[in-house]
Amino acid sequence: MPTTSDFERMLRGAALRVTRPRLAVLSAVHDHPHADTDSIIGVVREDLGDVSHQAVYDVLRALTLAGLLRRIQPLGSVARYESRVGDNHHHVVCRSCGAIADVDCAVGTTPCLTASDDHGFRIDEAEVIYWGLCPGCSTATSS
Ligand SMILES: [Zn+2]
Ligand SMILES: [Zn+2]
Repeated sequence: MPTTSDFERMLRGAALRVTRPRLAVLSAVHDHPHADTDSIIGVVREDLGDVSHQAVYDVLRALTLAGLLRRIQPLGSVARYESRVGDNHHHVVCRSCGAIADVDCAVGTTPCLTASDDHGFRIDEAEVIYWGLCPGCSTATSS
C-alpha cells in the first residue's frame, strides 16, 4: 500500500511539483482503479473539500502525460484512470454493466508489444480489450 511519501516520490521522480490536489488524485486513483473522472472528483473532495472539476481534470491530464497514470477508454465508456502503469496489461469489460477488470498479458511480460510487423513504428502501447458479461450480469441473463 503506497503512502503519501511514496506518492510524493513518484511526483518528484516525474519532475512534478508536489501539491495537495496531485497527491489526492494519485491516491484516489490508486484506491479506485478504473474510476472515471466524476468518481475521482468525488473521492478527492472527501479528502480536500471543495476542489473544482477543472483542477481535477488538469491534474489527471498532467499525471497521465507524466506517465504516473494510465488513461483507458473502452468503446462507449467515459475515460477511466488507473495507477497501474508500465506493464501494458489488458482489460476485460462487461458489455452489460461496464465493469472493468485487469487482465495480465497471456504470456510473460508485455509480449503483446512485440508486433509481428511493426512497420518501422516505435511501439509503446498495445490495447487489448476483452468484451463479455461479468459474473453478475451473466447470472442475471441466464436465470
Ligand atoms: Zn456486468
Ligand atoms: Zn487496469
